Amino acid sequence: MMRIILLGPPGAGKGTQAQFISKAYNIPQISTGDMLRSAIKEKTPLGMQAESIMKAGGLVSDDLIINLVKERIEKPDCVNGCIFDGFPRTIPQAEALIDADVAINHVIEISVPDDEIVQRLSGRRQHPDSGRIYHVKYNPPNQEGLDDITGEPLVQRDDDKESTIRDRLATYHEQTEALVGFYQQKEKEANNAPDYHKFDGTQDIEAVKAQILSALQG
Ligand code: ADP
Ligand code: ADP
Repeated sequence: MMRIILLGPPGAGKGTQAQFISKAYNIPQISTGDMLRSAIKEKTPLGMQAESIMKAGGLVSDDLIINLVKERIEKPDCVNGCIFDGFPRTIPQAEALIDADVAINHVIEISVPDDEIVQRLSGRRQHPDSGRIYHVKYNPPNQEGLDDITGEPLVQRDDDKESTIRDRLATYHEQTEALVGFYQQKEKEANNAPDYHKFDGTQDIEAVKAQILSALQG
């Protein structure tokens, strides 16, 4: 069993690195953001509730997210573990994993300062169906605006606009950053707590990848 949490501000590179880990360990990436975006696209009740909150850069309620994740990890592809990308984002979400006995092996923090985040997110492009992530400058697709695998158009997310990026960063500092201390403390207190690793996310994508994969092996 290999369960991993990726922690860090929006744009730190969680989704990018999750895709590498997913390949290396053959475990699925569980991106609550991607799940919410597809719920919005399908106009499900969850999607209707989440849409305006996401546009404003806030967080969807803990209850909704916890139920979404609990259902997801029951699926057969999670038998050998999974990578949580963008979850937990609050202390109650982290406590819910503990209460449900969902053991975590590693917490990986990717750290990037706020100034760099704005540049990263304004150049982010995504292939909606697969979740594959690109950057116009730092990780461009082979053909401008098109997914490498399917050739389908890439999109810019609604919330990757400068004003919303600032709101999301504020939300991160107010509600999510506390998880750094939370998991560091757990590692000190309990011997079955997840291993905590911190990486400098301002390095290039390949360097971050190499360090994460090596830490997971060690
Ligand atoms: P990013 O990759 O830029 O950090 P995500 O795709 O993870 O963004 O999330 C997009 C939005 O979806 C968030 O701004 C938030 O509104 C909502 N969201 C995603 N995951 C959670 C979560 N675990 N709890 C609450 N809201 C979430
Ligand atoms: P998150 O999931 O944490 O929000 P993403 O993985 O979606 O972050 O990355 C945000 C943007 O930054 C994407 O456009 C991605 O291609 C780019 N990116 C990711 N990691 C790096 C890196 N180490 N250096 C430069 N750009 C990066």
